[in-house]
Amino acid sequence: MEIESAEIRYVVLPLISPWRTAYGEDTTIHSVMVRLSSQGVEGWGEATPFHAPTYSPEWARSVYEVGREFFLPRIVGQELDSAMDLMSRLAIFKGNLFAKASVETAWWALHCKLIGQPLWRVLGGRDPVVRCGADFGVQDTIDDLLDLIQKAVDTGYPRIKLKVRHGWDIEVLEAVRSTFPDLVLHVDCNAGYDLKDDLEILRAFDRFNLAMIEQPLYHTDLIEHAELQRQIETPICLDESIKGPRDFLLALKIGACRVVNVKPGRVGGLHNAVQIHDMACDAGIEAWVGGMLESGVGAGICAALATLPGFIYPADLFPSSRFYRQDITEPLIEQNENCCVVLGETPGVGFEPIPRRLDSATLYRQTFER
Ligand code: MG
Repeated sequence: MEIESAEIRYVVLPLISPWRTAYGEDTTIHSVMVRLSSQGVEGWGEATPFHAPTYSPEWARSVYEVGREFFLPRIVGQELDSAMDLMSRLAIFKGNLFAKASVETAWWALHCKLIGQPLWRVLGGRDPVVRCGADFGVQDTIDDLLDLIQKAVDTGYPRIKLKVRHGWDIEVLEAVRSTFPDLVLHVDCNAGYDLKDDLEILRAFDRFNLAMIEQPLYHTDLIEHAELQRQIETPICLDESIKGPRDFLLALKIGACRVVNVKPGRVGGLHNAVQIHDMACDAGIEAWVGGMLESGVGAGICAALATLPGFIYPADLFPSSRFYRQDITEPLIEQNENCCVVLGETPGVGFEPIPRRLDSATLYRQTFER
């Protein structure tokens, strides 16, 4: 297909309540959306690196600027018949994986609409029913958290993930485990701990029968994660540290993780995400799909990815109403009574931005014509 026009938007979506993690607090989600058009058809992609470079070195403004300055001018007017064609055009640019993902996911959305297939089928998914977990950020009090977990258990969520950080870790887990001894539970440290200074806390996590401990150490570090994995029983899941298939290959070689969290944004798009899925299957490593509180467009992309057969652990996918005052897609992301997102047969992602809502959430935009 020839990319006839493209558009990039910086989008801000207010949250119902702040999202608190080891790296801080977000009250709005800052996202970058890209439209690619060909033959009168358009596809939207999204990457959501947050307002500040706190989760990764990229941030929404850098993603927007890199896309606007370098990526879109380089692909408009080009014949791009595969995601590989697109990634080859962008290969001279180092890093900037969220920025690449914003464009690459738009390519998939457009491609799937042009061939009349839903994204999940084109990626290799077999079952359009995606099981979802419940996630809780840092709360004001432990009692608040226990109430939230009780509601999630009553709703039937198959697993609970807790954000932890210094001062909100062992004591919290003691309370949660004594109240919910059999819950499938894991913690996400968002790179908040240090191997040398925090080894005692990291070892203490073993007491709580956790399904995994997500990204305990520094965001680029693989070697120390391998060292830690040798010293604790709980499986380490890498998130921030895996920025593409190369990182994952190295992590596998040195035993830095037993689980991998796959996010299309963090790894540079869906092609890389599928590769990591396949590598995890071959290596017998557990894999699951994470999220960055994307709008319905990005969440729909994550849901499509999560239909691949190796993604067994429940995904971080949330109904639009869980975080957003007003999401921007039709339909909204919803879960059924079994806490599953069920995808349909609509060609493309299946969750399209509503122009009026997208416009009202847009802070900056630029369009490109061939
Ligand atoms: Mg994480």
